[in-house]
Amino acid sequence: MNMATNKDSIITLPNLHLRKRSKRVGIITDNIKKLVEDMELAVIDWDKSRDHEVTVALAAVQIDHLLRVVIVRDDFDHGTPAKYTPLINPEIVKYEGKMEYDYEGCLSIRSVYGYVPRYSKIRVKATDLEGKIVRFSATGFLSRVIQHEVDHTNGILFVDHIKDAPDAFYELTAKGELEALDYDKKIKNSRILWQ
Ligand SMILES: [Zn+2]
Repeated sequence: MNMATNKDSIITLPNLHLRKRSKRVGIITDNIKKLVEDMELAVIDWDKSRDHEVTVALAAVQIDHLLRVVIVRDDFDHGTPAKYTPLINPEIVKYEGKMEYDYEGCLSIRSVYGYVPRYSKIRVKATDLEGKIVRFSATGFLSRVIQHEVDHTNGILFVDHIKDAPDAFYELTAKGELEALDYDKKIKNSRILWQ
């Protein structure tokens, strides 16, 4: 059934599908439910392969389905069993709070982390898997995660927010520490990041 979906199903830059806008979901069919299951399998498999990172969310485009579907992990702690909440057609209806900076990575951008500004509070509207509209506020890290995922549904990646910021790019060392990347050598003219 879902056997084919695993961490290798996750597409990465320079795949141009990541730059495309995903389509809205109409009726929530069995295919959409299967897509959500496949997304969960992909991130669970990916997490198993990593010691220092935990996947907090994924957008459907990242397993190459251009549909406005994201999953967000209920508990961001590595030690607990992973459970995800699917959000269909997620929208940010209001940006609130102030701009805050924090580190961000993305399964679709290998080896690069960024120090990215995001709104500290947002109001979100989405549909759940039963087709019911849900509305909620998100603050702090959850707010950041949802802004990152909604960006994915619009073909935007975190690096696009920091494109011209030489100090904002990092890589994760084998020890699990973030180290600044040489912007001029590795980032500025990267054929992988910017097409
Ligand atoms: Zn991402």
